[in-house]
Amino acid sequence: MKVMKFGGTSVGSVESILNLKRIVEAEPKPVIVVVSALGGITDRLLATSRLALAGDESWRQEFNAIKQRHFDMVDALFAPGPQRQQLVATITPFFTELESIYYGVFLIHDLSPKTEAAIVSYGERLSSHIVAMLIGGGVRKNSRDFIRTVKKQGKDMLDAELTYKLVRDAFATLGSQQIAVVPGFIARDRDSLETTNLGRGGSDYTAAIIAAALDADVLEIWTDVDGFMTADPRVIKTAYTINELSYVEAMELCNFGAKVVYPPTIYPVCVKNIPIKVKNTFNPQHPGTLIKQKIENDHRMIKGISSIKGTTLITVTGLSMVGVIGVNRRIFSTLAENGISVFMVSQASSENSTSIGVRDEDANRAVEVLNMEFSKEIVTGAMFPMHAESGLATIAIVGENMKHTPGIAGKLFGTLGRSGISVIACAQGASETNISFVVDARLLRKSLNVLHDSFFLSEYKVLNLFICGIGTVGGNLIEQINSQYKQLKETRQLKLKVVGIASSKKAIFNRDGIDLRTYKELMANAEPSNVQRLKEEIISMNIFNSVFVDCTASADVAAIYQDFLDHNISVVTANKIAASGPYDAYHKLKKTALQRGIKFLFETNVGAGLPIIGTINDLLNSGDKILRIEAVLSGTLNFIFNTISAEVPFSETVRLAKEKGYAEPDPRIDLCGKDVIRKLVILTREAGYKVEQDDVEKHLFMPDSFFEGSLDDFWKNLPQLDADFEARRKVLESEHKRWRFVAKMEKQDDDMGFKTTVSLETVDQHHPFYGLEGSNNIVLLTTERYKEYPMLIQGYGAGASVTAAGVFANIMSIANI
Ligand code: ADP
Ligand code: ASP
Ligand code: MG
Repeated sequence: MKVMKFGGTSVGSVESILNLKRIVEAEPKPVIVVVSALGGITDRLLATSRLALAGDESWRQEFNAIKQRHFDMVDALFAPGPQRQQLVATITPFFTELESIYYGVFLIHDLSPKTEAAIVSYGERLSSHIVAMLIGGGVRKNSRDFIRTVKKQGKDMLDAELTYKLVRDAFATLGSQQIAVVPGFIARDRDSLETTNLGRGGSDYTAAIIAAALDADVLEIWTDVDGFMTADPRVIKTAYTINELSYVEAMELCNFGAKVVYPPTIYPVCVKNIPIKVKNTFNPQHPGTLIKQKIENDHRMIKGISSIKGTTLITVTGLSMVGVIGVNRRIFSTLAENGISVFMVSQASSENSTSIGVRDEDANRAVEVLNMEFSKEIVTGAMFPMHAESGLATIAIVGENMKHTPGIAGKLFGTLGRSGISVIACAQGASETNISFVVDARLLRKSLNVLHDSFFLSEYKVLNLFICGIGTVGGNLIEQINSQYKQLKETRQLKLKVVGIASSKKAIFNRDGIDLRTYKELMANAEPSNVQRLKEEIISMNIFNSVFVDCTASADVAAIYQDFLDHNISVVTANKIAASGPYDAYHKLKKTALQRGIKFLFETNVGAGLPIIGTINDLLNSGDKILRIEAVLSGTLNFIFNTISAEVPFSETVRLAKEKGYAEPDPRIDLCGKDVIRKLVILTREAGYKVEQDDVEKHLFMPDSFFEGSLDDFWKNLPQLDADFEARRKVLESEHKRWRFVAKMEKQDDDMGFKTTVSLETVDQHHPFYGLEGSNNIVLLTTERYKEYPMLIQGYGAGASVTAAGVFANIMSIANI
């Protein structure tokens, strides 16, 4: 025989109740059906009683709404006729009684637990009558006749022995063709016979008790999801159904907040080895989850993750605790005597501090009773007063296969650490089926997501991107991501999710991913934003595996990298300001990324998409030493000196470079050598030398006066230089030489000494820089290993699409695939 329990959502709507009817009627008889109150009714009954207690007249409206909901349900389920009449006749007096009770509460401003239990019982009483009438062959059984509780420390606990006997008696007469319908949750006190209940969510427990007492073949919990899932599906969008769980695993997950099954439910059926099935009323074809004693063919280490919000950690500390026998006994018996349940304990082996996780609502009382228990020790100073920290959440990862498997805790804490989540307390029992730990409640969602991603979603890795700057580079990058998304997902199991896009004035955010096909329209209609807001928003979104991508040239944006890295958000940037700015700030960014196990990448700062910085890093990491860097690093200047001719004067080449998009928005940054100096500084630093921009010696080709006025003045005055350039160019041409603007770093003989210069040089046909075409870049690296024949890297060194591709490559390296 089966016991089937249908939860609130399964009796919440006409559609769901009709599903229930179909499911139940298709079962071989006899069968026992346990029902909850109509979805949401228990909460509403309680809320209404609080209104009445507060003397708020609106309790009446609320009461009428509850009543109306039930009558509407009856009207929708039953055509006019004797069945409907009979049902209305049965339930109408319930509402008369309930209204009188509320009125009493309203008048005398008193709501005792007893009255509250009476009020809340109407939910299941009503729903069970409706369902019993609807189901063909349904007979209603009154659970208050056989579920009995007893008061222990002010709580109603099941009297199992008496209940089991009464259940057996009550169902002894159940005919082989019958379907018994039983209200869940509600009970009676064994002594006073007053109405009580089994606690919120208790209908599951009612069903388990009946199943155990009658040695049922199976207990089915019918709800609104496809079974027990790897995590709470309301928080983790990618949670999926677990096919099979052991009783122990299910118990651990339920105890830590997996609401799908009420925790006490497991024990009675586990003792009798009765399997539990969790099924979906809205999708009965889905096999759901089977919970049983032993799981043979599932070798996954971790089965599920669950969590409890509202955790307070109470720490009992004191020097007298070390080695003293009995402190723990006193802590736990004090808490137990006061009906306070402890769901996590952590004690360091030094024994001078024990941390206890309790629910927020029990925290004050727990502190009070423990302070009382240890008052003598506190007075003498041997122990400190209890310390309570609230605003926390507890998370548990659960799986029986963790037993004797090394590395799970390492993976767990490593994953959290990389996401900047610090663990406040943790515990793992010797049974090794559960590791639980406490974090700041504000980090709960992020913690659950990173853990779920790391333990369950090896199928896909998700990288969450914030893209700042939607000019030529940013725009190109977004297009590249959009066109690569599907391919990366299918072939690399990588989901590149853009969760934020910002321009200098506006920003859009979407945790679930922005539609990149329509981002321009979204941006056009977006809220105004600025750098400060952008920073706050990104940090407060607190998304796991996230990367801030800077495609601007803004100093303000560069100034917020440190905040991102401090919050474990990696930074990928095409903006050179941070890496070439003050050395200490650059060094701090690098160090933070290293310490936190995240990335600060800026490959495109030098040579756009060319692998220059990465190559220098690889050489250094493998023990090589960079002795000399010689490079043409300005696409703009190279373009200018390659284009200048008898027909195209100097000023015209500058204009062309700007037009073709090689130059910085303000070309003076290129012409004054600043851009090259920045790049040289970055390469020199990456090669292991401490350098500032001011240390670089410059030999420029334009008088300083050209850089002093406005941009308009600059363009106006530029042709003044043409004649002189043409004269010099002619000489150069006759000598078969070319101009190159060369950046150089040379290590000096002493150990740390080095020299950095940028200068316009002339090179002859034999020099490797001679043939460098267009806006290309070239880098010659002389190292201890590449001494006689330096390493040479050459290619496109400017342009939006190669830069965007370089940024993309940096992002991909973070995905680490
Ligand atoms: P019922 O009214 O059927 O008793 P509950 O609301 O008590 O339903 O429990 C089902 C809900 O539990 C689901 O809708 C889901 O949102 C939530 N839930 C939390 N954790 C889990 C989990 N690990 N697996 C499935 N559901 C979960
Ligand atoms: N109706 C009760 C509650 O909402 C019992 C249950 O649904 O299991 O808590
Ligand atoms: Mg429930």
